[in-house]
Amino acid sequence: MLVKKAEIIITAVKEEQYPPEGVPEIALAGRSNVGKSSLINTLINRKNLARTSGQPGKTQTLNFYNINDEFRFVDLPGYGYARVSRKEREKWAEMINRYLTKRQSLREVVLLVDIRHSPGEHDKMMYDWIKSIGCTGIVIATKADKLSKNQQAKQVSVILRELGVEDRSLIIPFSATKKQNKDKVWQLFDEVLEI
Ligand code: GDP
Repeated sequence: MLVKKAEIIITAVKEEQYPPEGVPEIALAGRSNVGKSSLINTLINRKNLARTSGQPGKTQTLNFYNINDEFRFVDLPGYGYARVSRKEREKWAEMINRYLTKRQSLREVVLLVDIRHSPGEHDKMMYDWIKSIGCTGIVIATKADKLSKNQQAKQVSVILRELGVEDRSLIIPFSATKKQNKDKVWQLFDEVLEI
């Protein structure tokens, strides 16, 4: 994928703010701080289009990115931040649910998990949710540079088992800092988008 154009369209809170349907969308899900913004920035060769932050718990929004006027990345609000109220959690679920169940342009939801950790309850729920709406079940295991190749392979097995991933090839160890497997991720996305 040659990225010629990448821009943020909107940071949406309400459904009315979503851009019009008709352009295929790949959504990214995962806990806060897992590396969603870093993944987007790496894929589009930009340092800071998607906002990265060391602090979890930023405002819950759906961020829509236009890529080449061809498709969109949708950064879903992160979960798993301990210090949020039940009300905020409900708001999060409602927001994600609305997008996942109603969005016709949605082609695939990709789950990001930190390669160093065993997937948590929220990750499992999210993965089941993703599978239940008919997605392939692609998992990007982030921050792979923090582990050796050997440890990465071990953790891929853990993630495979814990999430119940059908095929090992669906889990991609990824590093934003080292750009590990950037091409592989693009290849999968190209297949999803049939480009
Ligand atoms: P988001 O909340 O999911 O969008 O996560 P961010 O992309 O903002 O990343 C959260 C933190 O993890 C930041 O401090 C990033 O620099 C760091 N991070 C993200 N990806 C990687 C990676 O591949 N390797 C390393 N070492 N750190 C990463």
